[in-house]
Amino acid sequence: MRFDILTLFPGMVQAVLGESIIGRAQASGLIELNYINIRDYANNRHNRVDDYPYGGGAGMVMQPMPVYRAFESIKNETDAKPYVIYMSPQGKVFHQTDAVRLSKKDHIVLLCGHYEGVDERVLEEIVDEELSAGDYVLTGGELPAMMVVDAVARMIPGVLASNESFENESLYGGLLEHPQYTRPPDFLGKKVPEVLLSGHHVNIEAWKRKESLKRTLSKRPDLLETAELSKGDKRMLDDIKSEMEGKHMSLIEKRKSSKTIYDGKIVRLEKDTALLPDGREATREVVRHPGGVGVVALDEEGFVYLVRQFRYPFMKETLEIPAGKLDKGEDPKEAGARELMEETGLTAGNMELLGSFYASPGFCDEEISVFLATDLEKGEATPDDGEFLTCEKFTLDRLTEMAAEGELKDAKTVIGILMTKNKLL
Ligand code: SAH
Repeated sequence: MRFDILTLFPGMVQAVLGESIIGRAQASGLIELNYINIRDYANNRHNRVDDYPYGGGAGMVMQPMPVYRAFESIKNETDAKPYVIYMSPQGKVFHQTDAVRLSKKDHIVLLCGHYEGVDERVLEEIVDEELSAGDYVLTGGELPAMMVVDAVARMIPGVLASNESFENESLYGGLLEHPQYTRPPDFLGKKVPEVLLSGHHVNIEAWKRKESLKRTLSKRPDLLETAELSKGDKRMLDDIKSEMEGKHMSLIEKRKSSKTIYDGKIVRLEKDTALLPDGREATREVVRHPGGVGVVALDEEGFVYLVRQFRYPFMKETLEIPAGKLDKGEDPKEAGARELMEETGLTAGNMELLGSFYASPGFCDEEISVFLATDLEKGEATPDDGEFLTCEKFTLDRLTEMAAEGELKDAKTVIGILMTKNKLL
């Protein structure tokens, strides 16, 4: 992509845009930046480019001819007419969406005014769009032009290390970005939020989204009116609002003491003393669990793969989506892919998080993430030693009926089927 900057002070612009990321983008040929000195196109002996305003008034006005000739010199070099932007406090205020839009152009010319501005006639002749840096007046268009070049250039693939760098960022998706942390984990006694150190990607993503919504709500609530929000986002916003209003405050219980009664392979049983909101104490029996994952594997013909197995606690057979427990610190998506493979022999080209839920919050902290797996490929099942199961497939519609009629007894299976059905509606 090519930028030409028409200015009376090329050195000013060059000094800034030649450095750092934009400088490197030029060196690697991702963008081309030319600085055209309007004064080189003055058509008089004294290289004069400005004159007194007709009708009187303060200051000087840039004359039309030098600007026009400078622009013509660029136009003569290219076949297509470049897109011309005049930097002006009268323009539309430059926004991230403009940066994204302009990054799709091949060739942009930025005209920087100075003094009292530019003769209106040349603006009418060459300008496609006016952009402002904000509602204040500067001495020249150079600083705003640099801002536009910087913001547009970093949207061009390859200029930043990865596209993700801008896709998650403030304003790109219409929201402000979550707060960022780097080493050390403890700064003046202030700790990095624990979830960021957990390696649990699903929880990390949920935290980031929530913080992003929280920040936008407190710093730029106006953005929420136009941001693209999912149903989950809206629910999260409601939670954040009531948290802010302190609605949940009166419900909070605190852990006073805790004793481990049993520490097994899957669960740990704790007996705690809790402080209630009114100051009284109560005993809480809690089963600690590392969390689980379930996978709704849906093939192209609309079939979903379930496993039939014997469930010892109920002394009955159940039909369940492939599922398993997380290893400590394991990413649920990876665990889901592993369980799917082991129990059904399927590998999925695509795994999408549908949501997560609390398996039994009354006494247990198990949280189960459910994924929708598509783009399936068949292979050999390799169940764990001592795991006896058969794989059966049903249409999604049949399973929805079975869920609604209480035939499916396993909660994560019912939830996974309903979430999938809702997703595909
Ligand atoms: N008399 C003009 C302002 C001139 S300021 C008016 O009232 O509209 C001189 C030059 O600085 C302008 O030509 C423009 O190119 C640049 N400029 C000043 N403020 C700017 C802003 N907020 N955004 C973009 N360009 C600006």
